[in-house]
Amino acid sequence: MYCDLHTHSTASDGTDAPGDLPRLARQAGLSAIALTDHDTTAGLGEFLDAAKRARIKAVPGIELSADPAILHADTLTDTEPPPRLGTLHLLGYFIRPDAPHLIEVQARLREAREQRNPQMIARLNELGMDIHYDEVIEVAGGDIVGRPHIGQVMMQKGYVKSIHEAFSRYLGGRGEAYVRKDRLSAQDAIAAIHEADGLAVLAHPTQLRLDSPSKLEHAVARLKTLGLDGIETRHSDHAPRDTQRFASLADKLGLVTTGGSDYHGSRKTLALGSQKVPLAVYENLLQAHRQRISA
Ligand code: AMP
Ligand code: ZN
Ligand code: FE
Ligand code: FE
Repeated sequence: MYCDLHTHSTASDGTDAPGDLPRLARQAGLSAIALTDHDTTAGLGEFLDAAKRARIKAVPGIELSADPAILHADTLTDTEPPPRLGTLHLLGYFIRPDAPHLIEVQARLREAREQRNPQMIARLNELGMDIHYDEVIEVAGGDIVGRPHIGQVMMQKGYVKSIHEAFSRYLGGRGEAYVRKDRLSAQDAIAAIHEADGLAVLAHPTQLRLDSPSKLEHAVARLKTLGLDGIETRHSDHAPRDTQRFASLADKLGLVTTGGSDYHGSRKTLALGSQKVPLAVYENLLQAHRQRISA
């Protein structure tokens, strides 16, 4: 029996409605699924209702984007060039969607997007592309508007051949139209997840782009001092040896482990349940959550 603890719906940048995911998960042979939309809990109500109907175990979750800078700060030496910052995503599991601090954090992140998206579109306009924010909002259709939606409009209008090209040439960290967004500190992200009675888990650690195991260990230990509860060990970006390495690190630091596909529907090629995460991983997480709320 398997679970998938990392998925996205139309509430952020997935292509399946939150109310469809439980049924799709059942069809994929899964026994439990978590919905972890980027920076929003908007899909959770529909998701949990549908999970009851589909008779599948469901975890209300979120994936918060946070500022990775603090993780580089104390591993830098004076002689090193400034690092190319990676991505710091924190998964929140078993969160209460009505928790006030978490709602406030979502509003802040939405504001950050509302500032960033038009700036990126303005850069694309300067590069000669005829793209309007309204078109991107329409494509997004949900609570969260992000780069994948901008990329989709670029593709529809023939400015790029694929989403991959949109990211590598324009929207990615080294792209011509890239604008940084991260407004939330790791500390605030973890605190908001905890205030919502959730568990905070470091998503896809490879995306931090820390170039050595010792830097990664230092970063995860730092996050642990801020309250981190776990590490995502299985993920579609991870090679088997990454999974191994992260599991050892979790063991060493006393963190729980999680895993998932990071399913985005037809926006990415990876399938729901493709990470073959044993159901025991879900059960451990549930146990850790029970301990947390009874503490
Ligand atoms: P945003 O939240 O607006 O910064 O956009 C981040 C989203 O873009 C995440 O869901 C990523 O999965 C997706 N993404 C990041 N890099 C790429 C890429 N190279 N190709 C396709 N999607 C990407
Ligand atoms: Zn995404
Ligand atoms: Fe992520
Ligand atoms: Fe994700």
